[in-house]
Amino acid sequence: MGNSDTIAAIATPPGRGGIGVVRISGRGLKSLAEKIIGYIPQARHARLSKFLGEDGLVIDEGIVLFFPAPHSYTGEDILELQGHGGPAVMNLLLASCLSAGARLAQPGEFTLRAFLNNKLDLAQAESVADIIDASTGEAARCAVRSLQGEFSSVIHSLVQALTDLRLLIEASLDFPEEEEVDLPHQAEVGDKLGRLQAQLQQVFASARQGNLLREGVWVVLVGQPNVGKSSLLNKLAGEEAAIVTEVPGTTRDTIRQLIELEGVPIHLVDTAGLRETNDIVEKMGIARTRSVIEKADLVLLLMDSRQGITPDDEAILASLPAPLPVLHVYNKIDLLRGPESAKSRKSFAEVYLSAKTGEGIETLREKLLEMAGWRPQSMGEGVFMARQRHLHALFTAREHLESAAALLGNGKESDLLAEELRLAQKELSSITGEFTADDLLGEIFSRFCIGK
Ligand code: GDP
Ligand code: ZN
Repeated sequence: MGNSDTIAAIATPPGRGGIGVVRISGRGLKSLAEKIIGYIPQARHARLSKFLGEDGLVIDEGIVLFFPAPHSYTGEDILELQGHGGPAVMNLLLASCLSAGARLAQPGEFTLRAFLNNKLDLAQAESVADIIDASTGEAARCAVRSLQGEFSSVIHSLVQALTDLRLLIEASLDFPEEEEVDLPHQAEVGDKLGRLQAQLQQVFASARQGNLLREGVWVVLVGQPNVGKSSLLNKLAGEEAAIVTEVPGTTRDTIRQLIELEGVPIHLVDTAGLRETNDIVEKMGIARTRSVIEKADLVLLLMDSRQGITPDDEAILASLPAPLPVLHVYNKIDLLRGPESAKSRKSFAEVYLSAKTGEGIETLREKLLEMAGWRPQSMGEGVFMARQRHLHALFTAREHLESAAALLGNGKESDLLAEELRLAQKELSSITGEFTADDLLGEIFSRFCIGK
């Protein structure tokens, strides 16, 4: 990592499209440009050119763009060849670049170079992948804000405040032993520490919301055969994703749907049911259900409202991992007659609805978001697209500040106090990547797509 040999990749997705782009980055792209287009392009000027193959024959024609270092995405020379977007012609063009001295870029290698050349900090570099991977518009918008440095600048200001506080405390550490009993700036330190804790708490809360946008919520639908799981999934998804039949136990496979509620991606999984069975196909479905439940954030237990909860449902509930939140959903209220009809008890974890008529579906949507921990806000304002890594760093920093506050309460342990602050600062700095181990970088960038 960190060397700057010339790398090349097809930057557009595989398949056919109007345009396909091969991107090349490195030092001294001029000789490569001469081989492929026959001249050295002018900086930042689009020009129609012929692209030559390994054998010197024309393989395509298209637009050439040249961004000389350091004013480019990677900070190195970048050449972009925009040809016709077909796999065969793109592969020929890439092969031509490789024979002209480039090597195939690894996933995320362009962005890694941008990071190593200080074009982006680590949180910004991660947001590039998050923009590409975003599954809702709101998630994408959030990631773009991170790319523009909003998250980083909040982290920087926390780090700055921590630095000031450490200076204040470390100055007092220089006093001789007997004066250490009374921290000279104790009130001021306490004040600043308190403010820092409050700010960090706010950033953490907002980062958790962003993380929800990034990861989405995994919701698993369980229940007896024929209670309407597939129908509910279809209703929520608004399309015929799962086969709805009158025969119990026909949904043997798990079926997944991605829906969007207030910009939050919700992954809905319909299951084969959890009941005991001897049917081999159904058994496979059940094994899959188990593994889906393991990564679920919440479970919808769907029941027929005419029957209410049955011993079989109790058995399903008992089989679920204890900390997993369960929403009880009573379906088919359109079939209820008489006094019990539409008797919603409005307790937190219950919803009455009809997958057929749609009655109660809106309440279900609200409950889903509420249980997922989403707080309604104006278009994600102030929400940071945060990864698990960021949440962990914020959480740990918060713990160090709490320890620091406790020490301060005890008065004289100011060297330990200084150490807690140093550790908190280190955690926060890891978000923007000031001190980042190579293996962490490898892990982060290897998950990018090729050509980015
Ligand atoms: P699953 O086995 O739990 O997936 O159940 P399905 O979604 O396949 O539904 C079983 C049957 O119940 C189908 O005939 C559905 O049309 C019917 N059904 C599902 N939801 C409702 C509802 O809210 N009201 C009525 N009247 N029928 C429903
Ligand atoms: Zn079904």
